[in-house]
Amino acid sequence: MGDEFDVVIVGAGLAGIGAAHQLHTAFPGMDYAILEARDAPGGTWDLFRYPGVRSDSDMFTLAYRFRPWSGAQSFAGGEAIRDYIRSTAAEAGIDRRIRYRHRVISASWSSDEARWTVLAEHDGQQVRLTAKFLHLCPGYYHYEQPHDPEFQGTERFTGTLVHPQDWPEDLDHAGKKVVVIGSGARRSRWSRRWPRTPSTSRCCSAPPATSWRCPAGTR
Ligand SMILES: Cc1cc2nc3c(=O)[nH]c(=O)nc-3n(C[C@H](O)[C@H](O)[C@H](O)COP(=O)(O)OP(=O)(O)OC[C@H]3O[C@@H](n4cnc5c(N)ncnc54)[C@H](O)[C@@H]3O)c2cc1C
Repeated sequence: MGDEFDVVIVGAGLAGIGAAHQLHTAFPGMDYAILEARDAPGGTWDLFRYPGVRSDSDMFTLAYRFRPWSGAQSFAGGEAIRDYIRSTAAEAGIDRRIRYRHRVISASWSSDEARWTVLAEHDGQQVRLTAKFLHLCPGYYHYEQPHDPEFQGTERFTGTLVHPQDWPEDLDHAGKKVVVIGSGARRSRWSRRWPRTPSTSRCCSAPPATSWRCPAGTR
């Protein structure tokens, strides 16, 4: 692959893969690259691995219009969404355009050349690409530094503290008393999943507020 493109897309998540698909459908001859900081596509749906991770929107709405959701569950699990994004990329050959472990660190526009110059870090090296169009799809949160507010006294807590963005693969919470901090959509997914473990797990949240619920998996 050369380093001069018509379009450079930043991020290979749901948005980046969708943008690439639209681009190559509308302009088949256009040369593009996707720069992805991580070593896998899927963004959110590859990163978050906590038990019960799933969509809050129904997938018939969240999925691509050009590839309607055919999964059995309307509120789908993270793995199913990850597979959907990956297979969309693979079927259209978009996966061959992704440059993994390319973290974009700057982009500057030159009016004289009518091109963007994009700098990315790749395995400790700086890589330079140019493009006529730059399409930013990097998501809305920090992948390496998740929002992690300080709570007084955590240094004295002898139990396990876990952040949903950094969930250990082998975490065993069976038989544990569990407190969930936060009462948004993520909490709702966890609490539905946890009581199923053969344990005395408890789930509380602060503040205790659930606005609405509907059964997972229903259309
Ligand atoms: C648990 C959870 C459930 C959610 N459920 C829903 C839902 O039901 N409905 C909804 O609408 N939204 C939901 N969201 C929001 C979700 O993030 C979006 O649905 C969607 O996945 C965002 O896609 P994206 O491609 O814009 O961003 P992301 O999925 O965040 O992907 C961004 C990609 O860009 C890459 N990237 C970032 N910075 C750089 C850089 N500098 N250089 C190169 N690459 C970079 C990242 O590595 C990542 O792969 C949910 C989020 C979470 C965490």
